[in-house]
Amino acid sequence: YFNENTIMYFNGSFVKAAEANINLYGQSLHYGYAVFEGIKSYQTDNGTKIFKAKEHYDRLRRSAELMHMPFDYTTEELTALSYEVLERNGFTNAYLRPLVICSPNMSLSKGKESYLAIEAWEWSNGYLANKMRIMTSSFQRPNPKAFKVEAKVSGHYVNSILACQEAKDAGYDEALVLDANGFVAESSGANVFFEKGGTLYTPAKGSILPGITRATVLDICKELEIPTEERFFTPDEMRGADAAFFCGTAAEVVALYSLDDVPFTKNWDTSLSATVQKAYQNLVLGKTLEEFKLQLG
Ligand code: PMP
Repeated sequence: YFNENTIMYFNGSFVKAAEANINLYGQSLHYGYAVFEGIKSYQTDNGTKIFKAKEHYDRLRRSAELMHMPFDYTTEELTALSYEVLERNGFTNAYLRPLVICSPNMSLSKGKESYLAIEAWEWSNGYLANKMRIMTSSFQRPNPKAFKVEAKVSGHYVNSILACQEAKDAGYDEALVLDANGFVAESSGANVFFEKGGTLYTPAKGSILPGITRATVLDICKELEIPTEERFFTPDEMRGADAAFFCGTAAEVVALYSLDDVPFTKNWDTSLSATVQKAYQNLVLGKTLEEFKLQLG
């Protein structure tokens, strides 16, 4: 992720990533009490652009607020710092990882001081060219009565690691994780949609991280007049549907091949999901949906 020349932003200055360090006596490391974002930048015809910077930084600030962390950067400041991290490293297509940590303090009360780190690394696209084989996880997503699941909190990702590793150990690419009621929630690090009879279905909010990509997909569908429904559904309902995909900033829109070894039935290339995938790929490169619609003819 970094070498001896990589620059990151850390607590007020730009420093070499290899030299940044934190106090180990802190709530973030001991309790997972940190909030973060995963953001992508793309090389577009108009230079390097961070996709949905406002949405991501608004969510970071909201996550900190929900966790009662002191954090007073504005979305504009965070965006400007992010562009500077990219520029200082000469990155265009990159992944940005802002992280707010609380240290020093070992109590179980709210954070007293927070530190902002913005790390970035180069990210070339198309790493998920193959359709994913996924399995229903034996782990549930964090219970919304135990966690504020709409906040992107580091500690929640221990659940993600357990689910993802279970799937990999069983020979699958990823996990489909259910909520406490047995309804489909999301993947370890992405939201999910399935397509059936010309409609796209995605789990309603409640036990999911409401993804920025999920919202973008819903916007795309509205614009392209593809019907969508946000509602709770079981894996039984999803298995053997026409098509399905995961979506997230890192994954973008990635096709699923099968759920619990039951393949999705439609040829991906002729699915509405594939059209959404192409529209998303256009959007991140700074093209408008109007331009995309013209291409579709
Ligand atoms: N769910 C989880 C658990 C995630 O970690 C992510 C990635 N941030 C998502 C959904 C997708 O969110 P977004 O589209 O905002 O990246």
